Amino acid sequence: MSPLSSQAEPGEGSAFLTQKPRPLSEGETLLFLDSKDRRYLIKLQHGGKFQTHNGVIAHDDVIGQSDGSTLKSNTGSSFSVYRPTMSEFILKMPRGAQVIYPKDLGPILMAADIFPGCHVLESGVGSGALSATLVRAGASVTGYELREDFANRARKNVANLLGEAALQSYCVEVRDIYEGVSVKTVDRVLLDLPEPWRVVEQVQDVLVSGGILLAYTPSILQAAQLNERLVNSGYRMCETVEILQRGWHIKAQAVRPDHRMVAHTGFLTYGRKTES
Ligand code: SAH
Repeated sequence: MSPLSSQAEPGEGSAFLTQKPRPLSEGETLLFLDSKDRRYLIKLQHGGKFQTHNGVIAHDDVIGQSDGSTLKSNTGSSFSVYRPTMSEFILKMPRGAQVIYPKDLGPILMAADIFPGCHVLESGVGSGALSATLVRAGASVTGYELREDFANRARKNVANLLGEAALQSYCVEVRDIYEGVSVKTVDRVLLDLPEPWRVVEQVQDVLVSGGILLAYTPSILQAAQLNERLVNSGYRMCETVEILQRGWHIKAQAVRPDHRMVAHTGFLTYGRKTES
């Protein structure tokens, strides 16, 4: 079985739309954690077997258990089973394009002030990691994506993560946002593409006054160019931030920062549209 670093199909799950405790069931994709904290994503199937060098666990023994249960393999090794979190799914989901990482996705929800029912114009859509995060937070998302294969992949990822019903709040169009937009009005514009400043003019008539435009850019030069365009277009409260997340190793007296961290992903640049 493949460890968490490989790509796996997350499988259907409406786990994110319902919080009620319910037993683990056939067809769900679960996270198995072995005694050494190694992670495996496994889709539960009647008659299936989870085989590792620490023994075998029959899927039928897992079906019906509760989230967070611990089971023993035939050789006595213990495994805990969980419904994966959104972050775990995102890190594992099949990708066409590079996804925005969970460390940035959470802050994006706050910086763009995403609220249930808000209408977001998102471009490019890529693999749909940001899309899924927005839809799960209650937004209704219209995505513009250049590549049809990415658009299809994103729809599939969103449906796999959130359930088919989520597609009622998610629509992806294959088009180039630099050439203009045809949505009526939107509350937020979220961008992850090479030249976000080119979109500021395109959304001038559709982003509501007081609305937020936010872009994720790997380079600070892109952030600076967008900032300049936003300021020149009358946006106020323009900010650029980067999110640094450093894990700590905590084991008895050995308490110190992790030696390694993901030092750089991208910058978040945003501002509020303001009537002059
Ligand atoms: N935020 C996404 C990843 C986006 S990757 C995620 O979290 O999964 C950037 C995407 O922008 C690519 O899929 C690329 O095809 C798309 N793109 C680039 N320029 C574009 C444009 N002008 N209009 C629409 N999409 C564009």
